[in-house]
Amino acid sequence: MADPIRAVKGMNDLLPPDSARWQWFEDTVRALMRRYAYQFVRTPIVEHTPLFVRGLGEVTDIVEKEMYSFVDSMNGDPLTLRPEGTAGVVRAMVEHNALYDGGKRLFYIGPMFRHERPQRGRYRQFHQVGVEALGYAGPEVDAEVILMCRALWQDLGLGEVRLDINSLGQPDERRAHRAALIAHFEAHRDQLDADAQRRLHSNPLRILDTKNPAMQPLVEAAPQLMSYLGEASLKHFDALKAMLDAAGQPFRVNPRLVRGMDYYNLTVFEWVTDKLGAQGTICGGGRYDGLMELVGGKPAPGIGWGMGIERVLDLVQQIGSAPPAPVPDAYAIVPDAAAMPVAVRTVEVLRAAGLAVQLHAGGGSMKTQFKKADASGARHALIFGGDELARAEVAVKPLRDATAAQVSQPLADPAAWAASLRNA
Ligand code: ATP
Ligand code: MG
Repeated sequence: MADPIRAVKGMNDLLPPDSARWQWFEDTVRALMRRYAYQFVRTPIVEHTPLFVRGLGEVTDIVEKEMYSFVDSMNGDPLTLRPEGTAGVVRAMVEHNALYDGGKRLFYIGPMFRHERPQRGRYRQFHQVGVEALGYAGPEVDAEVILMCRALWQDLGLGEVRLDINSLGQPDERRAHRAALIAHFEAHRDQLDADAQRRLHSNPLRILDTKNPAMQPLVEAAPQLMSYLGEASLKHFDALKAMLDAAGQPFRVNPRLVRGMDYYNLTVFEWVTDKLGAQGTICGGGRYDGLMELVGGKPAPGIGWGMGIERVLDLVQQIGSAPPAPVPDAYAIVPDAAAMPVAVRTVEVLRAAGLAVQLHAGGGSMKTQFKKADASGARHALIFGGDELARAEVAVKPLRDATAAQVSQPLADPAAWAASLRNA
């Protein structure tokens, strides 16, 4: 045999039975989006590299070291597998002038790619649900996108997840803070790690996002952006806090929450759990009022979040309430191949009536077929045996309820008794 070809490191297959939990999650998300009137969008997985370089910022972890970038061998275009969803959605809205008739509330679900060291909760292909609300400047939309996460945690049976919020203010406020930050870190240059040294002048705010424990004391003592915010920024933040309070959503103001992309302003937030080890952030987002203009559109405000599906489902598996994987209503047993045309016709009628029916394939004895029926989880076996067929009937045997009796049903009109097979 040839050497087996394996999946790319950090990129995972999703197989049954785990895929059932995934589908349940997506169904739950779609139902949530309907309740909040967010509409589905899909953008390409591959984008022109400058979209991310310009959109996310040159001096960010993602752009500096995590992107899967390559040159299109046909035309030399620099391309990148999308590392996040916001830049692409904003690009699409600009390209299609989609905000011409007002704001848009959108969501997406799909794979993202980052070249990171694979570990629990951190993969090279991972998946996000995200929302983007474009064209709305007010803090009520900040509250809305945050609260829809809480609603999702409830739908998934996750109970309380901690909410951290912060305000990054506006670019001019950040500039004043930046100068103070550089002065602070310069005064303690010897304590900076290599990453921080490099970012000291290019993007000192990023230093606050460091995961290096040795730098924590220095970061703790750094000047806080909050004290550089002007009246309008503070008002926006206060309004958001008042709405979260009114909705009964607890939060913690975390002045060190800066997020990993440069496009954010005003509100930023993260949902964090302590049940997933080091990768505890299951959702992060914020406002990005400058991004539309940055990718070449008319200025328009925006806010959104991205949620790591693998991390959320890890949490669901620990404490959530995923329903059991769906099983067929019936399993069709066909002991003699001669009965197959009748069996095929009958199960098609039942399926058209909305039942989930698994047809035995591959022959085998009655005993073998019953074993498969049992393993399928189906509540009923349909037995297309010779005796039954001679009477133009099929035997229906309950597989899960020992007190229920086997009955015969007419083959003439399966739709008439289809409902009696439906799972309770
Ligand atoms: P982290 O600090 O854990 O690297 P991040 O700030 O880079 O996260 P975001 O860009 O905000 O992450 O993405 C939103 C969410 O996507 C994260 O909160 C997380 O749940 C998930 N996520 C990000 N990177 C990965 C990854 N490599 N593998 C799995 N999930 C991820
Ligand atoms: Mg990251």
